[in-house]
Amino acid sequence: MERQVRGISCVWDAALLTPHNAVPLGPRKARRAGDRITWYPRACRSCVAIAAVTQLAIHTAACPTCQSEDADPCDTARALNRLFREYPR
Ligand SMILES: [Zn+2]
Ligand SMILES: [Zn+2]
Repeated sequence: MERQVRGISCVWDAALLTPHNAVPLGPRKARRAGDRITWYPRACRSCVAIAAVTQLAIHTAACPTCQSEDADPCDTARALNRLFREYPR
């Protein structure tokens, strides 16, 4: 857990991260031992791609815009699609 807090290993599968496979997920606020801390989770590329596909499936099931056949995908769906293409397995 300590290595994940410091962004050294992937938050999802604990793979060791290098500058080449690390994807920053942005700062997160958390509580640890009663203190508020900010941490900077990072994940490896393959986990980001899997997470994007999973999120896209969840999103599409709940989004009226994405379910409509004549509407273009909404911004959220577009962003998730871009993530998936950007970080192929
Ligand atoms: Zn990973
Ligand atoms: Zn949508």
